[in-house]
Amino acid sequence: MKNITIVGGGLVGSLLAVFLAKRGHTIHVYERRPDPRRSNAYAGRSINLVVSHRGWTALKAAGVHEAVQRIVVPVHARMTHDREGHTTRLPYSIDERPIHSVSRGELNKVMLSEAEKFPNVTLHFGQRCAEVDLDKATCWFETDGGERTEVKADVVFGSDGAPSAVRQAMMKGRFNFSQSFIEHDYKEIAFPSNADGTPQMDPHCLHIWARRYFMMMGLANQDGGFTGTLFMPHEGEFSFANITDEKDLMRFFEAHFKDAIPMLPDLAEQYFRNPQSNLAIIRCGPWYHRDKVALIGDAAHAIVPFYGEGMNAGYEDCKVLNDLLNEHGDDNWATVLPAYHAARKPNGDAIADLSLRNFVEMRDLVADPRFILRKKIEGRLQAKHPDKWLPLYSQVKFSDIGYKAAWDEGLRHDRIMEQVLAMPGIEEKWESEEVERVALGLLEG
Ligand SMILES: Cc1cc2nc3c(=O)[nH]c(=O)nc-3n(C[C@H](O)[C@H](O)[C@H](O)COP(=O)(O)OP(=O)(O)OC[C@H]3O[C@@H](n4cnc5c(N)ncnc54)[C@H](O)[C@@H]3O)c2cc1C
Repeated sequence: MKNITIVGGGLVGSLLAVFLAKRGHTIHVYERRPDPRRSNAYAGRSINLVVSHRGWTALKAAGVHEAVQRIVVPVHARMTHDREGHTTRLPYSIDERPIHSVSRGELNKVMLSEAEKFPNVTLHFGQRCAEVDLDKATCWFETDGGERTEVKADVVFGSDGAPSAVRQAMMKGRFNFSQSFIEHDYKEIAFPSNADGTPQMDPHCLHIWARRYFMMMGLANQDGGFTGTLFMPHEGEFSFANITDEKDLMRFFEAHFKDAIPMLPDLAEQYFRNPQSNLAIIRCGPWYHRDKVALIGDAAHAIVPFYGEGMNAGYEDCKVLNDLLNEHGDDNWATVLPAYHAARKPNGDAIADLSLRNFVEMRDLVADPRFILRKKIEGRLQAKHPDKWLPLYSQVKFSDIGYKAAWDEGLRHDRIMEQVLAMPGIEEKWESEEVERVALGLLEG
């Protein structure tokens, strides 16, 4: 059994600790921040995220799903809000299967507690990884007070997120790296619950105000509130740079998100207080150094959040690594780490592409009647031929199909649906046998 250092006790690092502890390894997790269960690291921030099917698959494989189930809100559909405040409900799947909203802070706390149940796991907080010797699997950690500790291990995992210190060390060698910022930044704005604690909107829907150049979304929390996230370009006509005072802000909301105003009594205060954060895609490789070091989660593949899959992808990394340890044994890291990279890197790249695509879909298309028609046709095909037609969204959110395979199939669906939507009179005959025959013919042809 090995001595393993995990750098970063966030969402992915804590799950990885559980998987590896179950195998009998000795695990030390070093987290730069204080223990969130004993500090107010997440206080005042209601940021939430979505757990999808493949996230649950990993949580189940680690045996921690029941603890997580207690803190989620099921979300069955998108609810689009137009400029006049009219809403349209679009289920995520024909059978109303839900994705699940969970508070990032609560999830992190639960997972750290699950990891700590193992006697072979030790969590160290307030320890920032400052340096890594890759060949020796040795890390140096520093406290805020400047205390420095050297930690030797057999294997080191970098689960230290997008700014990863472990990745920085790997970049000194033969290592590929690219980081691209998208034009859009984001800002969180919390929707409070009603005075009696009930939600102001349907909590079982992801609310989307899609406005082509920008958008806002709202995702429910267990306390009846919603985390709203406004995505807008950094600069330009519709941008964060163009909203400089309360007047600009209210004019903007009046024009584009009118129905949200009564639900946001402290909108201006929140808007000017909350940080504006940027969004970047990081691709890199290889994700391992010999049999000593590997990257996992956002450290390996930071993506934009529009598919809500970043954490789910990181959870799947953990599960795949565990499967490979089952296959090759716990002493064969020289085989396991390259195999892990080979299995996950194409999927990391694919979910980065898929996430950008979903941005366009959420921002522009959910407000587009052709998009809605396409969803209806695909829903019908899926209902009648579930073995033949699984829409891209369902492949990503409701299956364990690899992201790369889903992406390839999704592109094929695009080409088919383009031809189907070009059929004369499609608006009237979308439910006909003829349309079904054409789509299936193209699929099989
Ligand atoms: C607005 C937004 C919405 C999102 N929504 C979703 C969603 O709905 N579903 C989903 O699956 N994903 C979502 N994501 C993505 C998700 O947040 C990330 O993919 C996920 O947090 C990655 O987990 P991680 O553990 O790899 O990294 P992180 O969560 O970043 O954790 C890294 C940990 O390492 C610690 N650390 C960093 N540097 C050091 C160091 N030098 N030494 C020691 N510790 C260190 C950090 O303090 C942190 O605790 C969203 C992201 C954003 C920005």
